[in-house]
Amino acid sequence: MPPVLETVHNFIDGEFQPSDEYIDSYEPSTGKVWARIANSSEEDINRAVEAAEQAFPQWSSTPVDQRSKILMKIADLIEERLDEFVEIESKDQGKPVWLAKMVDIPRVIHNFRYFATYALHDLNSSSLKQDTSSTNYTVKCPIGVTGLISPWNLPLYLLSFKIAPAIVCGNTVVAKPSEMTSVSVKLLAKVFQDAGLPKGVVNIVLGYGKTAGQALVVHPRVPVISFTGGTATAEHIRRSAAHLCKKFSLELGGKNPAIVFEDCNFDKCIDVCIRSSFINQGEVCLCTSRIFVQRGIYEKFVQAFVEKAKSKRVGDPVDSSTFCGALISLEHRNKVTGYIEGARQGGATIQCGHGVLDLDLPARCKDGYFVRPTVITDIADDAPAMKEEIFGPVTCIVPFDDEAEVIQRANSVKYGLCASLWTENVSRVHRMSPKLDVGTVWVNCWLVRDLDMPFGGIKESGTGREGGKYSTEFFTEEKTICIQY
Ligand code: NAD
Repeated sequence: MPPVLETVHNFIDGEFQPSDEYIDSYEPSTGKVWARIANSSEEDINRAVEAAEQAFPQWSSTPVDQRSKILMKIADLIEERLDEFVEIESKDQGKPVWLAKMVDIPRVIHNFRYFATYALHDLNSSSLKQDTSSTNYTVKCPIGVTGLISPWNLPLYLLSFKIAPAIVCGNTVVAKPSEMTSVSVKLLAKVFQDAGLPKGVVNIVLGYGKTAGQALVVHPRVPVISFTGGTATAEHIRRSAAHLCKKFSLELGGKNPAIVFEDCNFDKCIDVCIRSSFINQGEVCLCTSRIFVQRGIYEKFVQAFVEKAKSKRVGDPVDSSTFCGALISLEHRNKVTGYIEGARQGGATIQCGHGVLDLDLPARCKDGYFVRPTVITDIADDAPAMKEEIFGPVTCIVPFDDEAEVIQRANSVKYGLCASLWTENVSRVHRMSPKLDVGTVWVNCWLVRDLDMPFGGIKESGTGREGGKYSTEFFTEEKTICIQY
């Protein structure tokens, strides 16, 4: 008997609505179809936008403290169903269960709670300027229907980072998650129903980017698009909607350097760089993929790093000893291994990683999309594996001599998302940080995120910032009102 597949419909106007067609969704660790998700047409997107439009007048005039209470309720209900969310997110994405439980779903809960409370203070504040003849003040107004598009690597984590600020600011939403990881939104939509979120405030449409996503991006009555995904997709959507003057936030790819000086805390640096290179199978936009190590400790660093990388277990996501689960798809695994092969053929040394034939995998995982943590050395800065985003468990380690040289080399790629600096020298941190072409510089750490701080990239890593007031600024229009006496 064929297995019973999870079916995920669109969520429009507070109801699950069937679509004419469905897309197979694969479980990355087994390579088998485990779910069917709606393949939305342009008409589905139009219906979702209409529902969001109809919900807007009521929702935008609901007092912010009431909107905030519903977000808090959403967070509580996700917390109550944490284990269900964790199981689905891991099965759908390929990430270890422990990671979804420790990071992804707690972050979803935090996103709703954070913006629920943040908006209470932020949306009520305004600028005020008075003189003898007039008073000028500002009000922050919700904009309307927002289009939110998210990728597959941190599915609910990134989607909730958009939905929470958009709705607490009084907007309504049409969200389109990645076609590869849409299953957990079914549970999220149930939570919205149970939390009493009014119908039509959040609508979720599923399907391919080039059809469902594209229809949303060019919809004339969706004035705001918040997109997280690949740089090439962002270029395409910006071009295709250029004539519509939309407000865009674009969070895109990265090719992030770690810069390791001889005076660093060596053991901590190795541990964190292993995590920053290989966590979530290297499928985090902020993952480190180029490690520049000062020449005096280069050999020692490579040896310690490779030893540790080899010790990281690749395997079944449900196994608590698994460090790296499966990559998202067969196509993506082939892309990742293609970069490794390309580097080998170009003369680089593959210190460890790649092949998985000898992995000790359970029978159910024999067709899964696994790649071992891979470390590459003896590679030129202009090789594809050093320049392009691989988005897998692959990192290159290269030596450098001095500050000026490493800044120039770190900046020599088209991306500019984040960097990490490893040194005990505070003056060096102060000197170097402004010169690194990135949105975030972590010093002696990685992925320590304070949601009040702006998050985003420069160059081809994106435009705009998310987090705290940066999200509420994006999801509102601040209007000036001038009263002359
Ligand atoms: P992608 O660009 O292929 O897809 C992202 C989303 O866009 C998906 O929902 C997809 O269906 C949709 N889409 C595709 N074509 C579209 C179109 N023409 N119109 C509208 N929507 C369309 O990216 P991906 O492969 O899902 O994700 C990986 C990429 O995301 C990597 O480059 C990674 O660095 C980036 N990313 C960036 C951040 C960040 O915050 N900067 C975070 C996570 C991932």
